[in-house]
Amino acid sequence: MARLGSWIESHPEGIYVRPADAWIDPSQPKDRAWVTHGHSDHARGGHGAVLATPETLAIMGTRYGPQPGGQTIEYDETIRVGEVDVRFVPAGHVLGSAQIVMEHKGERIVVSGDYKRRPDPTCPCFVPVPCDIFITEATFGLPVFRHPDTGSEIDRLLHRLHSDPSRCVLVGAYALGKAQRIITELRARGHNDPIYFHGAIERLNQLYESFGIALGELRHTGGATKLEMAGHVVIAPPGALNDRWSRRLPDPVTAMASGWMRIRQRARQRNVELPLIISDHADWDELTTTIRELAPTEVWITHGREEALKHWCMMHQIKACELNLVGYEDEDD
Ligand SMILES: [Zn+2]
Repeated sequence: MARLGSWIESHPEGIYVRPADAWIDPSQPKDRAWVTHGHSDHARGGHGAVLATPETLAIMGTRYGPQPGGQTIEYDETIRVGEVDVRFVPAGHVLGSAQIVMEHKGERIVVSGDYKRRPDPTCPCFVPVPCDIFITEATFGLPVFRHPDTGSEIDRLLHRLHSDPSRCVLVGAYALGKAQRIITELRARGHNDPIYFHGAIERLNQLYESFGIALGELRHTGGATKLEMAGHVVIAPPGALNDRWSRRLPDPVTAMASGWMRIRQRARQRNVELPLIISDHADWDELTTTIRELAPTEVWITHGREEALKHWCMMHQIKACELNLVGYEDEDD
C-alpha cells in the first residue's frame, strides 16, 4: 500500500525512501534500516545494514546483541546514500534520539520520529529544521493534552516523599529514557539521596552513564531492607508497580510518570496514587508550535491521535494526511 510523495513512500511496515533503498524504523526486517531511536517499537532486530546514532546503536546492542551491520552517524553529519543526502538531528525524546533529514532533487523531507520540545537533562534539545514535508508523530495530538511544567511535577513527588519518611515513593517509569530522566530531574531539583532501582533498568542506567549522563548514587532494591528504603525514591518499570516484587518495599506510595496520567482513568487502572504528568512526547502546543515553526507545505502523521492535528493543519492551509503505520505503540510516553 504505497502512497504519496514523489520519492518517499508509506507502507504499513514503515516509511520507504526509494532513491536510497532504505526504510525508516521498519517493523519488519529489512536490508537497509535507518533508526530514529532505541524504543522497541522503532528499533527492531534482524535488519541488514542499520544507520543510527552511536547511542541508539548501543541501546540496540543491549537489547538485541551486537549489530554487525551497524553504521553510526553523528548528529549533524551528512552522508550520501544512493541519491539522498541524509542527516540525523536531535529529537529531544531519549538518549540518542534523532529526526532524519533527507534531501533529494531540491526537496527536503524531515521524519521527526518521537520527539518533544521541552528540556531533558539526558539528551540534546529538538532542533527545528524547516522543510517541505514534515512527517510527525501525534501521540498526544489532542488539545486536551497539555503537559505541565516538569519541575513542578518533580516537586510534587519530593513533597510527597518528605511528608512521610516511613514510606517510599515507587515511581513507574518506562525503562529506556523515562527512568533515567526522572533520576536526572530529581538531581536537578537538588535531591542527592540514593535512589533505589528495579533490576530491569540496571543495564540502561549503566548505558546512560557510559555516555556521560550522571545519575548520582543508585542502589539496587535487591538485598536492601524495608528500613533502608523508607524515605527514598524507588524507580521501576510500569509493569512492576502492582506485582509481587513491590511487596518488598516499605508501604510504597505508587506513582507513575507518563503523559497519560492526564487521564484519571488511566491512573486508576494502574492503582496509581500519585500521577505525575511527565512525557517524552510533544503535547498539543508543542506539536502545533513545531509545525508553525517549520512551515512545511505538507504534514504527514505517522501514529497517535491524527484527526485533530490533521484538522488543525487544514485550518492553517497546510496539506495533511495520516499514514496509518502499524506497530507503533504509545506506552513509551
Ligand atoms: Zn519512543
